[in-house]
This record gives sequence, C-alpha cells and structure tokens, in this order.
Amino acid sequence: MAASPDLARAAVPQDARDAILAWYDATGRLLAFRSTADPYAVLVSELMAQQTQAARAAEAWTAWMARWPTVASLAAAPLADVLRAWRGLGYNRRAVNLHRAADAIVERHGGVVPSSIEALEALPGVGPYTARAVAAIAFRVPVGAVDTNVRRVLGRIAAGGPEAVPGRAMQVLADAAVPCDRPDAWTHALMDLGARLCRPARPRCADCPAIAWCRYAAGERPAVTAGSGAGRRPEPSFPSTNRWLRGRILDRARGADAGAWVVFGEGIGTHEPRAVREAVAALASEGLLEVRDAAGDDVEARLPS
Ligand code: SF4
Repeated sequence: MAASPDLARAAVPQDARDAILAWYDATGRLLAFRSTADPYAVLVSELMAQQTQAARAAEAWTAWMARWPTVASLAAAPLADVLRAWRGLGYNRRAVNLHRAADAIVERHGGVVPSSIEALEALPGVGPYTARAVAAIAFRVPVGAVDTNVRRVLGRIAAGGPEAVPGRAMQVLADAAVPCDRPDAWTHALMDLGARLCRPARPRCADCPAIAWCRYAAGERPAVTAGSGAGRRPEPSFPSTNRWLRGRILDRARGADAGAWVVFGEGIGTHEPRAVREAVAALASEGLLEVRDAAGDDVEARLPS
C-alpha cells in the first residue's frame, strides 16, 4: 500500500471511523487510567500497559498514582521503591526508564510533561508508539499510535493484513485515520478493537463495527512471503527463557530487606549457575541491580539505592 495520506484516509473512511468510535462509546473497557487526561498519568499508564494485560496494568496504575501522584514525587523516589512497586508487571526495564523519564521531565521541562512528539521521544524509554499515545490521549494531537494491535487492525481493514502495509506506510495510514476531533478516544478504541475483536487468530469479525469496510473480512489476504511465519520454530517454554530467569532474580532481590545483599551462586530452575551470573550481570548493566563479587564464583546483588 502506498504511503499517501489521501489513499490511507480512503482506506479507513469516515463512516468506518464513526462506526468504530460509536462501538467504543457503547462498549469500551472501563479501565481506571482512561478516566484521566493528565499527561503524567497517561505516560505511566502507557508504559505499564505495554506487554502487560490492561486490567492488571490498570490495577497497578491506581496504586502507583496514589503513591506518586506527580512527576516530581516519582523523580524523588528511590529506584529500589520504584522497582518493588513494579512487581508483577514484568519487563522491569520499563520501571527504570519511567524513573529516568521523570528525572528528565523535572530537569529539562520543569516537571511538566512535554506535548511535542520530538520532546516526548527524547525521554528515556519513550519510543514512537508511547510518544504518540501520550500526545493523542493527553494533548489531543491527531497522531496515530502504532503498536502490534493497531498495526493488525488497520492493516487488516485497509489492505487485508499488516504485511501489506510495510514500514513508513503504516504510520501514514495510522495518522490519516485519526479523527481530528477525537484522537484520544480513537487511540483507546483501536486498542480495544485489537484486544477484544481483531485478535491475531480467529478475529471476531461478525461482532466488529468495521466489518463493512474491512478487506480482511471481505476475504482479501496479502500474499504470504518466505519468512513471514511458515516454518517458524515453536516458542520455548517460558521457564526456560532468559526473561523468566530475570524475573526470578529480581523477585529475590525485591524480597530481601532494604539494602540487603542476596547471594546468587546456584542455578535457578533449569538455568545453570553461569547463566544466572550472566543474567545478574546483565540486569546490573541495565541499572536494575547493584552487584558485588562474593566467595568463589558467587555474586551478590540488591536493588539499586
Ligand atoms: S472485521 Fe475482522 S479483521 Fe476486520 S477489523 Fe474487524 S475483527 Fe479485524
């Protein structure tokens, strides 16, 4: 699909946008963080909701906002407290980045979350998706926030599948599709559509407000190219992954008394001691742990102070 705003706009016409917004107005999920347009609160929610189930993120967001209601309060908090509060959300690097982003907002912007895409993207851990989601939801800037869900929804509607809208063309499509009067609701609506109806496997097209305009539902499919999925190796089981191991290491560090060192000398689950040490070192290099050598090959680690 060509990267032309006019073509992109035609691919998701006004009637389709109206139908999606009407569906969202009638059935949208009542997630706690959708009740606010406060830019800091939106930034926290967007970082939490990436790679974490929305309902769980909403619960954590409520507790987070009660504890650190402003950018300045988060920036002043010890990183160890921030990491403990992130427990259960996974991908702990996001907590470090959120803390650093709060610092940067205080230092560069006087504690006020910036509204421009450029300034938002310059914050630690804020990529193109998060910057546009914050701009659209908090500042009502008509830009499209493209994550995996949105890519799938818009790609299927406009071209039968996201594979047919490569690279820059997807951002052009997403920007062109945004209703200028409701960029905030539109951002939430596409998220809901992707999570509830337009799922990767067996989308619920019969219930979808976009079915009349959707090329995927009409039976169009982009040609499958080599490497697009066929013949992929099966996913490894979760406990055998490095992500699982990192989570267990951080859980042990969180479970220790404040400031106490935890010894890592043995294997964890199916992971050998060496793999554990390497994971501890990687977490330290990312700022998630402090480490020091211990007896033998052991290392000791704790949450950063
Ligand atoms: S009609 Fe089906 S494929 Fe098209 S957007 Fe809706 S759920 Fe997705």
